[in-house]
Amino acid sequence: MQSINKEELKEKLRETKNFLKDERVITANRLKGKIIGILRDFLKEKGFVELLPVVASPVTDPLSSPETTVSFNVYGYPFQLTKSMIFHKQFAMLAFERIFIFSPNFRIEKKEMAKTGRHLVEFTQFDLEVRGATRKEVMELAEEMIIGLVTRIIDEAKDEMEFFERKLKMPIRPFKVVTYSEAYSKFGKDLEARLSQSSEGHIWLIDFPEKIREFYYLEGERTFYLKDFDLIYPEGFGEAISGGKREWRAEKIRERLKRKRINEDLYSPYLIMLEQGIPPSAGFGIGIERLTRFIAGLESVKFCRLFPKLPGEFGL
Ligand code: AMP
Ligand code: MG
Repeated sequence: MQSINKEELKEKLRETKNFLKDERVITANRLKGKIIGILRDFLKEKGFVELLPVVASPVTDPLSSPETTVSFNVYGYPFQLTKSMIFHKQFAMLAFERIFIFSPNFRIEKKEMAKTGRHLVEFTQFDLEVRGATRKEVMELAEEMIIGLVTRIIDEAKDEMEFFERKLKMPIRPFKVVTYSEAYSKFGKDLEARLSQSSEGHIWLIDFPEKIREFYYLEGERTFYLKDFDLIYPEGFGEAISGGKREWRAEKIRERLKRKRINEDLYSPYLIMLEQGIPPSAGFGIGIERLTRFIAGLESVKFCRLFPKLPGEFGL
């Protein structure tokens, strides 16, 4: 393992010290605390149970690129740092009907991602799951949550919003919906960014093709298209949420793994849990740093953590 030399470390930590005294960082993190409180209140009122996060375990979200994984050996068992709590959320449906977690995610994102203003290596998802829910129900829940958050934040974070000179528009329900195929024919590959830049309000992007998505979403009426969604922020802030209805049947997941040419042994703990039976569910995760960035209107998510780890860079 390459270690950082002392002189370089001193310089980096001087930068960290200055960063910790930066008013933008202090204000954004105070704002983030308020956002967290409001989100927690919202779901508690709806009868959700708050769980504590799983930091490492034998199985985690595959995401689209396996190189984002951090693996290590624990008592001879292969463990991974949590990239998202998706599988544990599905398993938790055995215990509770409605759950949420502020879940730390660790992903070794590609170095180029440092420039997007949206990517950190360590970030937090506000992650929820509802047993037996439909995709529509959790999308409606997300809309209500965002409207409720903006309403309270305008009132309860006046100083922070004034500091950032941010005039937030109240989102209007229902949010617009566009299918992935429609967006692709209009905008091509760069659809997330272009949809976000061209949209006045929050917009749902639904029905992703299974080829470009993780294997745990339920297939929709159209073969090879999923009952899933992303929520896209307006003003070019990009993706806010990913979620959908989940597949809960082992044999269906096996078919999907085969089509994706993924070795199913990598997901044995997940498949065995599914074989033993878990309930169907739907849910989503919203990135807290990106949400804070949007509310504050900041150029980068890095201001939304005290100790940001940017892709490819040193971070404390
Ligand atoms: P994903 O599982 O990749 O869809 O991530 C769920 C949510 O977490 C996204 O919709 C984003 O809001 C947020 N997110 C994902 N990756 C990152 C990242 N590298 N840095 C900060 N937030 C992220
Ligand atoms: Mg996503």
